[in-house]
Amino acid sequence: MKCVICHGEDIKVMDIKEEYAIGNDIVCIPVKVPVCMTCGERYYDRRTMQFLEEVEGKLNKTQVGLKEVGKVLMYEEKG
Ligand SMILES: [Zn+2]
Repeated sequence: MKCVICHGEDIKVMDIKEEYAIGNDIVCIPVKVPVCMTCGERYYDRRTMQFLEEVEGKLNKTQVGLKEVGKVLMYEEKG
């Protein structure tokens, strides 16, 4: 498999966290996807895309299955 962006061949399956925003909250969805080590391009296959769509569909209806692991903080410049 070659990267379509940089044509690099160093592509590894990595554990990443897909981030999904609900209002001011961010939900991290852990997935395994091949990632180009050279440019960082992620290659989602059909199954992963379907999985993410499924999870996002569930998240829109209910917040079951979520645990708080940290806070999302916004940097503000102080005058
Ligand atoms: Zn690449």
